[in-house]
Amino acid sequence: MKVASTQRPVKVLMLLTSDFVTARYEALRARAPELNVVTRIDGDTDPDVTALFAFKLPAGLLPRLPNLQLAASVGAGADGILGAPDLPASVKVTRAVEPGLGLSMAQYVSLQILQHFRALPTLQAQYAAHEWKRVAVPDSREYTVGIMGLGSIGSVVADVVAALGFKVIGWTRSEGRAARVPVFVGEQGMDEFLGQCNYLVCLLPSTAQTAGLINRAFLSKLPQGAYVINAARGGIVVEADLLALVDEGHLGGAAFDVFATEPLPASSPFWGHEKVLVTPHIAAQPSVGPVVEQFLENLQRLERGDPLINEVDRSLGY
Ligand code: NAP
Repeated sequence: MKVASTQRPVKVLMLLTSDFVTARYEALRARAPELNVVTRIDGDTDPDVTALFAFKLPAGLLPRLPNLQLAASVGAGADGILGAPDLPASVKVTRAVEPGLGLSMAQYVSLQILQHFRALPTLQAQYAAHEWKRVAVPDSREYTVGIMGLGSIGSVVADVVAALGFKVIGWTRSEGRAARVPVFVGEQGMDEFLGQCNYLVCLLPSTAQTAGLINRAFLSKLPQGAYVINAARGGIVVEADLLALVDEGHLGGAAFDVFATEPLPASSPFWGHEKVLVTPHIAAQPSVGPVVEQFLENLQRLERGDPLINEVDRSLGY
């Protein structure tokens, strides 16, 4: 296999920075044993490396790969690659997209909405106290779930949550994608969107535009008692602002899977907070097989000079 524009044989670098990457490395080796895949570079630079298959790029790596053409994320978000300050403009960036991701995320979001909606913490406390006490059953048709980001994942979540009987609305950057739920767009649609959300679900990508977007002013526009779920990326929600609004009683609570700093530091006020649920970035993971196939397909497309699948628009950052 060669990369067309330079006629260089393909050499892939995968830095085994976590078990997540190692599993994809092993699958790639098994699926394409003929492919030249290395896990480190020898010497100061390696002009033979044409493709990276990675989750997060360590500082200083990119200047050592002068002929890099493709940086493919092994995960759904490409923020770990786009965040590298020295990523040359010529390098194409792709991310992992596969249908199972949307389903796993829909399960996660449903789990978090339902545990709060059906008062699971109260029922667990009553169980611990051997107390038989009925709680009211609310009507999901009277509650609105607002989904920020109706992309490959958010659109599946919207369908599943709607099937649970909730009213579902969405918020996106553009009107470009067809959606089966009412959609509010950009800044002009934001207030009307937020004013209706009993549950706010963040499924936005991490970009320059979304960094710190969900701050105090933003969250204050939610109805009293609203519950916030962030399963997208840390840094989009200003964590201190969220906790302050929970403590002040404006928000009913929150479930977070992602944080500005991961693993969540032991000193974080999220730990042990009675109105907050923390999970360790496990909401959804792309299945290994489809992601490896997508990467191999993109290597072939690169060789032919064809458009890549799931290429990130570097001007938008997602
Ligand atoms: P995607 O397909 O790129 O969709 C992104 C959506 O966000 C689109 O609807 C887009 O609007 C909207 N959007 C982007 N920038 C916006 C802005 N500035 N204002 C308003 N809307 C904006 O992304 P995805 O694959 O669905 O992934 C969603 C998120 O889930 C990502 O952050 C990803 O990293 C995260 N994720 C987390 C986990 C986990 O385990 N926690 C697992 C997988 C993915 P348009 O429709 O107008 O383009």
